[in-house]
Amino acid sequence: MVQSIDPGQAFPARCDYHSGCRERLLSAAESLCRESGTSLTANRRAVLDILSESHHSLGAYDILERMDAGAGRRPGPAAVYRALEFLSGLGLVHRLGSRNSWFACSRPGEHRGRSQYWICANCGVVGETESEEIAQILPELALSMAFRLDRVSIEIEGECRGCQLQIKG
Ligand SMILES: [Zn+2]
Ligand SMILES: [Zn+2]
Repeated sequence: MVQSIDPGQAFPARCDYHSGCRERLLSAAESLCRESGTSLTANRRAVLDILSESHHSLGAYDILERMDAGAGRRPGPAAVYRALEFLSGLGLVHRLGSRNSWFACSRPGEHRGRSQYWICANCGVVGETESEEIAQILPELALSMAFRLDRVSIEIEGECRGCQLQIKG
């Protein structure tokens, strides 16, 4: 029997404390930068700010467009990619390989890089879980096939609870 997960925990977008998510993310960004001796440059902060507006994923060019609309100064795509690379290195944002897009982590610093990403194909919201069962089974399977496992990425597509309720109701 697999341990069940409260949808509100995996999909914080469905809770009403979203502003709390944003503050948590920004304060985690500052302390992680301090700890790692780096700094949250204007570009990095702007990218993080845009991603922290929702729990939906955005492509680099969507981010670029929003940066343009805001401050009136336009960084190049390379600067956006560098900022994303930096932020995902600290676990503040995560990349969805299947969509080549990024989203803000809901519990920065708590995820150990073994998350499963749940993507709603309807509204685009992304939930994150860290199932121990899934994390354990893959290395075991790999071993049985004599496969050297380097990196695991699990992205599941479907429909979130909020969308299902809306469609039914
Ligand atoms: Zn995360
Ligand atoms: Zn949805």
